[in-house]
Amino acid sequence: MKAVICRSPGDLVLEDRAAPGAPPPGWARVAVSHVGICGTDYHIFEGKHPFLAYPRIMGHEVSGTVVERGEGVELAVGEPVIINPYLACGKCIACRHGKPNCCVSIEVLGVHRDGAMCDEILVPAQNLYPANGLSLADAATVEFLAIGAHAVRRSLAAPGQRTLVIGAGPIGLGTALFARIAGLDVSLLDMSSERLGFAESELGFAALDGSKAPAADLVRQATNGEGFDLVFDATGNTQSVQSAFAHVAHGGTLVLVSVVKDDITFSDPEFHKREMTLVGSRNALRADFDHVAASIRGGAVPLAKLVTHRTTLADTPRDLARWAHEKTGLIKAVIEVG
Ligand SMILES: [Zn+2]
Ligand SMILES: [Zn+2]
Repeated sequence: MKAVICRSPGDLVLEDRAAPGAPPPGWARVAVSHVGICGTDYHIFEGKHPFLAYPRIMGHEVSGTVVERGEGVELAVGEPVIINPYLACGKCIACRHGKPNCCVSIEVLGVHRDGAMCDEILVPAQNLYPANGLSLADAATVEFLAIGAHAVRRSLAAPGQRTLVIGAGPIGLGTALFARIAGLDVSLLDMSSERLGFAESELGFAALDGSKAPAADLVRQATNGEGFDLVFDATGNTQSVQSAFAHVAHGGTLVLVSVVKDDITFSDPEFHKREMTLVGSRNALRADFDHVAASIRGGAVPLAKLVTHRTTLADTPRDLARWAHEKTGLIKAVIEVG
């Protein structure tokens, strides 16, 4: 089969690889249909991902069709599926508490083990969710949106709360969309006027342009000096995370959606006087995948506006390398494999 291999940072090639064999019990062989390209993939390509072992087949935002079932698998051959790429051990404390999204020994397809930028892949059947009428193109967008949907669910938000999402990239936009679906009053803060312009004109979000004024001033103006009930950081930027604490209202919540490599510091008196809640959010659960899929089916997600770029498996080495640095007009790119 054909596979796109990242052999080392900056070195992405299309190669022939042995197709996966028969699936073991509880697993299925899936013909890959569509693969979304994520910030993580650009980071792996650029060598910015910590602890990644090369060579690696990337790709964790995946839809496909079941082509062969291991023993005990009940999904039908030919079933269109959404792949949940977080392979969990099923035994650790997080798994025992129903949180496989933060499994102690989690393996994410395309990161810790080979992913789906190829023709076929083996996946545990419990990580395959029937697309139930969703097109395979749309099904490949469920994972990245589920990250935001999970963060919103983690926030325990109440409808009407004033909400700030920092970072207008795909994860931030997904968070903002699912915050709005949850009935929150959403503003977006970013340093890119281009991205904010898109969020404002195409998606209808209030925009706070951090390139034009200090974020603290913009937050004060937008909230009568009170701060936001809910703040989500989806920037992956240490400075932004640290500044975000100050944007939270008294009694409010800060949710860290993206991860940063560094330690973060904050003022404990500022934190305590607000009685702030600080929430980490990692990956997503089946309930989030189901919520996103249902929202897409119901027409609540403007996918036609979010998927801005398309390519094929053969052209991925060239296009992914280009999109890693040419971000103008790029929200989400999808590889059409099958
Ligand atoms: Zn991703
Ligand atoms: Zn586990």
